[in-house]
Amino acid sequence: MKIFVLNCGSSSLKYQLYDMTDEIVIASGKVERIGMDDAILTHEPTGKEEVKIVTEILEHTTAIEKVFEYLVHPESGVLSDIREIQAVGHRVVHGGEVFSDSVMVNEQVKAAIKGVFDLAPLHNPANLVGIEAVESVLPGVPNVAVFDTAFHQTMPKKAFMYPIPKILYKKHKIRRYGFHGTSHKYVSAKAAEFLGKPIEELKIVSCHIGNGASITAIDRGKSVDTSMGMTPLEGLMMGTRSGDLDPAIIPFVMGKEDLTLNEVNSMLNKHSGLTGISGYGSDMRDIEEKMVTDEGAKLAFDMYEYRIRKYIGAYVAAMDGVDVIIFTAGVGENSDILRKAITENLTYLGIEIDQEINRVRSKKVRRISTSNSKVEVLVVPTNEELMIARDTLRIVKSNK
Ligand code: AMP
Repeated sequence: MKIFVLNCGSSSLKYQLYDMTDEIVIASGKVERIGMDDAILTHEPTGKEEVKIVTEILEHTTAIEKVFEYLVHPESGVLSDIREIQAVGHRVVHGGEVFSDSVMVNEQVKAAIKGVFDLAPLHNPANLVGIEAVESVLPGVPNVAVFDTAFHQTMPKKAFMYPIPKILYKKHKIRRYGFHGTSHKYVSAKAAEFLGKPIEELKIVSCHIGNGASITAIDRGKSVDTSMGMTPLEGLMMGTRSGDLDPAIIPFVMGKEDLTLNEVNSMLNKHSGLTGISGYGSDMRDIEEKMVTDEGAKLAFDMYEYRIRKYIGAYVAAMDGVDVIIFTAGVGENSDILRKAITENLTYLGIEIDQEINRVRSKKVRRISTSNSKVEVLVVPTNEELMIARDTLRIVKSNK
């Protein structure tokens, strides 16, 4: 079965086309600057030359039509007929409290995605536009929505409620939802498979450390707590997001700096984290390079690492133990320096790392802890698109 995976943003989209017989990507690509007369379509058919075109693409339906043109293109195509696509999996950021699993899209599901627009105002509207665009270009082909929040719906109330007047939860659904669920689910299942143990026997702390970052406590396969909250701003220090801070800072800064709510929101989401502290931007590679000589970069790194370590400690406490710690995503998979800094301060857990193996770069799952270590420490490359494709296949089969 061929499955098209779509991740639609407000002015861009990314796609991968899978052949699920052996789970291989047969084409991938992206469209950037949707809405402009110089939009950029990059199409990468596996085993063929990449295509890059700059053209007017004013809305998502046109963008998808263009992508489909290239999927069946005589030279750069990978399909003879677009109807070979048997299902489409959509990344949807917020499923609110409605969705605890992926779901076949129908009118009710679309209404529910709309119902939580205000919880993810930048993402959910774009995700729904993507669904509707595919419906119009590929009528009759099943669409499956895969939610970033769904995996975390198993959290107990004591973990997802905020200690503010309870009426706000009732009225506005203010609670912790968590994100990166597709990634945490994928890497925890991969880790269990790698260790040859049922996930139902494992306590896992999963560290998704990318430009956005979150840590999840996964107790016997279920998310029981996660560091991102009602929005992705809470939790760890990130590339440009602050993560946790005293909420009283917000009105204080607004008063002192004469800022509006929107401006403070933008400060916390776009100008904080590594960017705000280092002055060198949000890319961990730059921070690592500069921190040897630059105090700001060193402080940014130390704060970033310290906050990750505190969350690991908190989640070990939440689960009363840990069997596996996973590092994944751009920074987690690639920065041996960060993994070293974190793990050499976790000796109280009986963790021992093989620093030689830690330095090895690989696209494969690998154990970086020694055989003496009391906790397995693994680097697991994440693959959210594959997880979406797998979920799409599962949901389509179960609806037949
Ligand atoms: P993601 O959001 O998962 O795509 O992660 C993107 C981030 O990964 C980038 O902003 C970089 O900070 C980080 N990254 C990528 N490669 C490396 C590397 N070799 N060392 C450290 N950080 C890296």
